Amino acid sequence: MAIPLLFGPYGSAKLPGHVKEYGVNAVWFHGFQEEAFADCAKLELEACVELKTFRADFAKRPELIPIGADGQPIRYGRLVQGVCLSQADYLAEIEEQLAAGLSKFRPRGIWLDYLTYAGWFETPEPDLQESCFCPRCVDDFCRTANIDATSPARILSEYASEWKAHKCRKVAGYALRYAAMIKRKLPECVVGAYMCPWTQEQFDGALTRIFAQDYGMLAEAIDVFTPLIYCRKSGREAGWGREWLERSGEFVPAGSSVQLILDALDFPDSLTETALSAVPSHGIQLFAGASLFQDPDAAGTFSLAVEAIRTQAAR
Ligand SMILES: [Zn+2]
Repeated sequence: MAIPLLFGPYGSAKLPGHVKEYGVNAVWFHGFQEEAFADCAKLELEACVELKTFRADFAKRPELIPIGADGQPIRYGRLVQGVCLSQADYLAEIEEQLAAGLSKFRPRGIWLDYLTYAGWFETPEPDLQESCFCPRCVDDFCRTANIDATSPARILSEYASEWKAHKCRKVAGYALRYAAMIKRKLPECVVGAYMCPWTQEQFDGALTRIFAQDYGMLAEAIDVFTPLIYCRKSGREAGWGREWLERSGEFVPAGSSVQLILDALDFPDSLTETALSAVPSHGIQLFAGASLFQDPDAAGTFSLAVEAIRTQAAR
């Protein structure tokens, strides 16, 4: 399947009627929202859905809080993602929501969000914890990996690589389930995934060790990988997206597309740097970017970046 180059804002804020003139051809928005689909149809833009997977309000759903190696619920802040993956009812809810959306709408793409184990990465100093060591998750690991190690300490000291691989396979398995549901209904729908933007070695391998996002394992399910390149929030420079793209061949399998999501807070520097990358981003999402298109100068900057990326991609 040919993956289209899609450019536009993330968020459901209103866009001006002539936004297509600025190179925008798509909008990403949260969930299957009727109004957002209608707005896209009116403006002749591709509608792309961000689908929340493993993220819940822990105050309302305390049973979903993963258990850390100390046997206690993990520490978490406002923005935490990831849940205990032994919670079958919650997992069924995700599939029900996806099935309901697919029965009613025809999005051009669906980006799976929070498809990770627990933690938060939009920060310069992440608080990283291994999880989930609830009895059911530990039992699942022991049976699946044919390992007899029930204490978190023993799992982490003697079977760390098996534990990591098990978690990555779990996440990739759910990605495949969701992708199969999507493609059965809409064979041409692009399946994307929002990714922890760290390279393999950062934070002691936390991309796989903590978040369990393995590009190789996910490649079968995911057409487009979308790392969250939020420079200011992550304490990084504006050239981060460009650096990430130019190194992506080291860890993203050939044949997979990569498309950055940039943060409107980092506009315009992060976008103009990204547009200079020798490895082009396969389209661009601009988080909270809709309001920029009310300003002709900012919209013009976006338009120039789209042109540069399209030219590079055509080479
Ligand atoms: Zn668990």
